[in-house]
Amino acid sequence: MRKNKAIFLDRDGTIIEDKNYAYKIEDLELLPGVVDGLKLLQRYFIFFIITNQSGIGRGYYTVVDFHKFNNYLIKQLKEHSIKIERTYFCPHLKEDNCECRKPKTKFIDTIVSDYNINIENSWMIGDHPSDVLCGINAGCKTVFLLTGHGRKHIQDLEENEIAPNIITNNFLKAAREIIKEFK
Ligand SMILES: [Mg+2]
Ligand SMILES: [Zn+2]
Repeated sequence: MRKNKAIFLDRDGTIIEDKNYAYKIEDLELLPGVVDGLKLLQRYFIFFIITNQSGIGRGYYTVVDFHKFNNYLIKQLKEHSIKIERTYFCPHLKEDNCECRKPKTKFIDTIVSDYNINIENSWMIGDHPSDVLCGINAGCKTVFLLTGHGRKHIQDLEENEIAPNIITNNFLKAAREIIKEFK
């Protein structure tokens, strides 16, 4: 049966170490638990990366740099037999007020219609309140990871009454929690 549930993955601070506008492949470092977590989830979900890349809009690196770095990540995951269906990136600054920067849901909405995704049974996983908010806005379930910027932002989450379904400090723990309902 074709999978119709998705995991929308933030990238920096969620699957790789957030090194502030990283674009050089030597700076690419998968976070602990990510490979094993994705392997667990892969039985049930299709994976998409959705990432805000304002470093492009700021002129810190180019779209070409972004793709080089991201393709390297995709390749690394592929070596672990993990498939990322597609990556969506927003190159804009917050001030640009574009339609694609999380917490806006343009990318998720597009994926839902293009891939016929059951959004209610899908998840957004991220380390920033805007990831959680994006997932909630789009109508899926959400994980807030205390990796990357997560720890720094937990208070914002509480102050703005943004309530993720799961809060945890490790990707694998999140994955185990998500697949509980399938056991
Ligand atoms: Mg992040
Ligand atoms: Zn954008």
